[in-house]
Amino acid sequence: MSRIEVDRDRCVGSGTCEALAPDVFEVDDDGVLVVHREEPGEEELDDVRDAVQACPTRALALAD
Ligand code: SF4
Repeated sequence: MSRIEVDRDRCVGSGTCEALAPDVFEVDDDGVLVVHREEPGEEELDDVRDAVQACPTRALALAD
């Protein structure tokens, strides 16, 4: 099971991750990232990997 890790000091609330994996990530009205599923399902992993790669500040990581 893979687990999403967020470096809150790095996240700038750009919403890139939400655009790529909207079921997993959401930037709330205050610009704070909410992770709906810290352990995404297999069917979500490709989108989550794309989001990890695309984050402009490298705030996301996927740990096994
Ligand atoms: S893409 Fe990165 S900086 Fe943007 S909201 Fe997601 S975690 Fe934060």
